[in-house]
Amino acid sequence: MGEPCIICVAITGSVPTKADNPALPVSVAEQIESTQAAFEAGAAIAHCHVRDDEGRPTSDPARFARLQEGLHRHCPGMIVQFSTGGRSGAGPERGGMLALRPDMASLAVGSNNFPSRVYENPPDLVDWLAAEMLAHDVKPEIEAFDLSHILKAHQMWRAGQIRDVPYVQFVMGVRNAMPVDRDVFDYYVHTVKRLFGEGAPWCAAGIGANQIVLNEWAIAAGGHARTGLEDNVRLDRDRLAPSNAALVARVVALCQQHDRPVADWHTARRLLGLPLPA
Ligand SMILES: [Zn+2]
Repeated sequence: MGEPCIICVAITGSVPTKADNPALPVSVAEQIESTQAAFEAGAAIAHCHVRDDEGRPTSDPARFARLQEGLHRHCPGMIVQFSTGGRSGAGPERGGMLALRPDMASLAVGSNNFPSRVYENPPDLVDWLAAEMLAHDVKPEIEAFDLSHILKAHQMWRAGQIRDVPYVQFVMGVRNAMPVDRDVFDYYVHTVKRLFGEGAPWCAAGIGANQIVLNEWAIAAGGHARTGLEDNVRLDRDRLAPSNAALVARVVALCQQHDRPVADWHTARRLLGLPLPA
């Protein structure tokens, strides 16, 4: 048996709408229900964005608080990860929910292009978000849209801006950012091992039809996997994904094919150095 694989479910995101897939959870109640089903299907991390009453992305800490409370109640032990991504706010607004002390939060450490704009992560904002995560004891997940982001995470770790060995997620297939490229993926893995140690955990996310491609690459290479409707709303070319849980189930099947047990929340917390919930 290989090492356990942690499955992260990115339930909502900032971009998809119910017009893209009616199963997308948008209200907090829908998010809790969808996450619970994904948790029961095998996900150990919930990557969360919140939306306002009109379904638009927001960084409103009150929304995050309601979601967090519901997830603690309905998915006990599950790792809650909030997004500090730039589609839902600007500047320090992006970190306003960190005082809620989620287990984890996403942290972009550099800028790159997105489909129709620049994804701006200026150095002072990156430093501030990292400091807030340290202050509130929130473990960052480094969103690597580029090789330089992995090396930047290493510098920040060495400088004490990140407490533990950085947990890096490779994001591939966002239009105008890093495409899905096997050689680059292999070099990402090589770089993580070189900088953070042979056993350092890492994960990968692919966008759209490439979600399952990155799932398979990561599982086969010993990494962890992200799925969910944020990154991809389809099960295959002909069918919409009926739920987040259905996307989790296809990752579970891949884990079985590759002889990797699926990490339950206990195991996931141990692998990531996170405390057990109070
Ligand atoms: Zn996200």
